Amino acid sequence: MGAAPREKGMDGCIFCKMVEGEIPATKVYEDKAVLAFLDIGPISDGHTLVIPKQHCATVHECDPQVLAETSARLGRIAEAVVAATDADGYNVLSNNGAAAGQVVAHLHFHIIPRKMGDRVFTQWPSYKYKKGQMEDIAVRIRSHLK
Ligand code: 5GP
Ligand code: ZN
Repeated sequence: MGAAPREKGMDGCIFCKMVEGEIPATKVYEDKAVLAFLDIGPISDGHTLVIPKQHCATVHECDPQVLAETSARLGRIAEAVVAATDADGYNVLSNNGAAAGQVVAHLHFHIIPRKMGDRVFTQWPSYKYKKGQMEDIAVRIRSHLK
């Protein structure tokens, strides 16, 4: 499956409007497939968003080639963000769907520079599976991947 030619952005999508130059963005990187710009509401200095220029809403709805091209840029952009902000590490995350906190329905990867002990994310609510539950869930997921 090849990437469909990108013509005009998705109506009403603010990130497509940035790609088209219709609304401003503080760009840090751009090529034919990808745009990276500073998040207007950062959770740390240098918080960057990396988007495919071709509109898709989520990881699973994205053309695999577009997803591959976007993902392939993450390392280089993250390295630059870390170097520029003197960060000790970074999170790469993508919210997919409103339940996961996605507000802008154009696929994007957050690159969030981190300092040791910064307490940016104070919660990681992990827990233990009940007996047998882990295998049950894995069986269900595998059945959808057949
Ligand atoms: P989400 O919650 O969808 O994963 O993240 C959307 C991100 O887009 C938020 O972090 C928000 O601050 C950022 N954002 C929303 N509108 C704009 C905008 O107009 N310009 C920029 N640079 N970032 C935006
Ligand atoms: Zn869009």
